[in-house]
Amino acid sequence: MARQLLQNLQTRLAYAVKTGDDVFNAQLTLNEQGEIGYIRHHDQRPQPAVDALADCPLCNGKIVETAKSYSCSEWRNGCKMVIWKTIAHKKITPAMARKIIDRW
Ligand SMILES: [Zn+2]
Repeated sequence: MARQLLQNLQTRLAYAVKTGDDVFNAQLTLNEQGEIGYIRHHDQRPQPAVDALADCPLCNGKIVETAKSYSCSEWRNGCKMVIWKTIAHKKITPAMARKIIDRW
């Protein structure tokens, strides 16, 4: 971890960082002054009730937006429903993804 920091000024993996009562995942960074900082990661588990784009057409899951795709919240349970955000070099907006899902 220390070597990664010195070579890249940033760790590749996120580590649990504790500040006061708060614990979160973050990549550690090193600035030019040699001070250690961090890039805080957003929670990787969006709440389906809040972030759901649509109901999954293949299972009882919800389609949620991720960094690269709109995919089923049940993917861990084997659901293959996924719409990539870029299809044939076209950007797929959440509204377009919803239409695609509607017509699935
Ligand atoms: Zn599904």
